[in-house]
Amino acid sequence: MNTHVGRCQCGKVRYEAEIDLEKAVIDCNCSICSKQGLMLTFIPAESFTLISGEGNLTEHKFNKERIRHYFCKTCGVESFGKGNGPNGNAMVAINVRTLDNIELSKLIVMPFDGKSL
Ligand SMILES: [Zn+2]
Repeated sequence: MNTHVGRCQCGKVRYEAEIDLEKAVIDCNCSICSKQGLMLTFIPAESFTLISGEGNLTEHKFNKERIRHYFCKTCGVESFGKGNGPNGNAMVAINVRTLDNIELSKLIVMPFDGKSL
């Protein structure tokens, strides 16, 4: 478990999160993940801190609203989404592509069939 800093492309939205990158990240085939190329890892909401950009986020809800997707109003990048885990706990889905200083090619990627849900 390490503290990572992430940001959207323009840098208005910045966050800090406790993430275990040894854990497989999810490559989901649902409409929004596949079109955006999202690679997600889920962490408890308390492990996530939004540093800046609160007022610069647009929320996009679709489908069954399992995840609330947040986009930067300026650059359009989704750094994270919010939802609830199977036990009802508040979770944050981090788009690991927005983390600073990580080697994407070193991550373990697990395909997830979100399209069929
Ligand atoms: Zn931005």
